[in-house]
Amino acid sequence: MKIYLNGNFVEKDQAVVSVFDHGLLYGDGVFEGIRSYNSLVFKLDEHIGRLYETMHTLMIRCPLSKEGMAQAVVDTLKANNLKDAYIRLIVTRGEGDLGLDPKKCFDKPNVIIITDKITLYPEALYNNGMEIITVSTVRNHPEAINPQLKSLNYLNNILAKIEAGNAGYAEAIMLDHRGFVAECTGDNIFIIKKGEIRTPSQGILKGITRQCVLDIAGELSIPATECLMTRHEVYIADECFLTGTAAEIIPVVKVDGRVIGDGKPGPMTKQIMDKFHTATLTQGTKY
Ligand code: PMP
Repeated sequence: MKIYLNGNFVEKDQAVVSVFDHGLLYGDGVFEGIRSYNSLVFKLDEHIGRLYETMHTLMIRCPLSKEGMAQAVVDTLKANNLKDAYIRLIVTRGEGDLGLDPKKCFDKPNVIIITDKITLYPEALYNNGMEIITVSTVRNHPEAINPQLKSLNYLNNILAKIEAGNAGYAEAIMLDHRGFVAECTGDNIFIIKKGEIRTPSQGILKGITRQCVLDIAGELSIPATECLMTRHEVYIADECFLTGTAAEIIPVVKVDGRVIGDGKPGPMTKQIMDKFHTATLTQGTKY
């Protein structure tokens, strides 16, 4: 496996960064998870756009332009001869001293691209739907670490994931600081009620798959709104599903012990899943 590291391709065991890298010391860095299907990178510009927006707020100066980054992603896929892949893009603050001041770092971010495979959930869950719970770990307050920042500081989500795992669930809903439904630990959440699609508007990572689903809803003339959402609304929804680059679209059939709809993946969810799969196979950056 060849890893892109600061402009070079190196073997996995040679792909190393300093123990003084602030990405390691403080989670000071950014990342993206991207997928390619059949030699097409899905939504590459959108992912790179979000990466650079997070870097802008964190004031990390990437040595690569957006175009250079897109090219590096494609080159890494080619170097590994992968047609279908999960791509992990990482830019860390780079090396510094043991203090947390980013100004004392050497202004040399580490750029890493890993291309591999990923299977998040077993196929049966896509066919039968999954059961999730709400955890008590609250999603980051937007004025603390804004959930829109896709930074290497993922402890908020990891704590929620631990809680979910301890209770025997693979995924969980996180509420925002006011008690509204925000998102899951690594996925956005959608509900469908009376033919209308709804997804939380705030306190979330603005998922690329989420936007893709909103676009698909538009193409299918299904009304879609981004709104505040309570758990009660989720419980009484006709359908529910989660979205994420790694998970793609996965139906949810039970939340906190409440059966959603008739307890099976709903017809609109299936229609959106179909459209999404077609999009992944026909749209994207060719390589
Ligand atoms: N929310 C969180 C917290 C995530 O980590 C992810 C995965 N990146 C998502 C939502 C889904 O975002 P996307 O569709 O861009 O992968």
